[in-house]
Amino acid sequence: MKVRFWGVRGSIPTPPTSEQIRQKVLRMLEKAAVRDISSQAKREAFINEFEDWEVGLIGGNTSCVEISTKDTLLIFDMGSGMKRLGDYLIKKHSSEGKIKAHIFINHTHWDHMQGFPFFVPAYGPNSELHFYAVHENIEKRINDQQDFRFFPVGLDIMLSKKYFHQIEHKSNVQIDDFTITNLELHHPGKSYAYKVTHNGKSAIYATDAEYNNLSKERMLGYIDFYQNADLLIFDAQYSFIEEIQKVDWGHSSALVGVDIAIKANVKRLGLFHHAPENDDFEIHKLLSIAQEYRKNNYPGNQLEIFIASEGLEIHL
Ligand SMILES: [Zn+2]
Ligand SMILES: [Zn+2]
Repeated sequence: MKVRFWGVRGSIPTPPTSEQIRQKVLRMLEKAAVRDISSQAKREAFINEFEDWEVGLIGGNTSCVEISTKDTLLIFDMGSGMKRLGDYLIKKHSSEGKIKAHIFINHTHWDHMQGFPFFVPAYGPNSELHFYAVHENIEKRINDQQDFRFFPVGLDIMLSKKYFHQIEHKSNVQIDDFTITNLELHHPGKSYAYKVTHNGKSAIYATDAEYNNLSKERMLGYIDFYQNADLLIFDAQYSFIEEIQKVDWGHSSALVGVDIAIKANVKRLGLFHHAPENDDFEIHKLLSIAQEYRKNNYPGNQLEIFIASEGLEIHL
């Protein structure tokens, strides 16, 4: 299965500021100043030495993750990243025009819903959209977002065929070769992690979750749910200090992610739901701190930690 990140930011879409771009350009020029970049080939080789986030952007769109195979498309959350996913699908399916998607909702705060009114496939009569949520009244919640006072086009004007599936907590959903299970997370109004299993591999989408002050039993439940995952997409919005200060705000940090991932024998930990206040350098610093923490506290452990960034694709 392929995992592709379309929106990775938490809370509110966050385009980069001019000053942030200026700082990146300045940094590149400082490094270029002592190098020979006199030809196009040399400039390209120079650029290729950098990591994607250094010459590009981690991304400012809110939560939206695609997990798919050639035949089946699952979407996790409908944050502003969903707009570009929709445009991509329209282009990809331009010849036959039929788009079928299974959309799983983690929770219905704005940053997980606001992209849907701009998801162009939802307007096409040939599209078939299946929505899955543990929260009740998901159709009404989506419809409320498109109340005429807030958005000019209601859900009923979107011509796609829409099916709303109320799923039970901890139940299994089978879609083609995929099995999707869920588990409640600690977040204001509740959120739900989804574990996606396909061909013996598993990816877990577990954003908007806090692990402070939970009972031992509940913590063990998470360790069990995340056990042996090939990929854990984890809410790492806060620094460790912020996490301690913001009890009951419903978010977590990279360091807590490392502890949990290692206890659960996870292979890859994707830091996700980045704070809108943090620029790319600060987000990267949180990654470095997490890598250092793993090295010092779990010597020899092979957990791979990375920043979930827009456009990043992982094949499991
Ligand atoms: Zn969120
Ligand atoms: Zn939330």
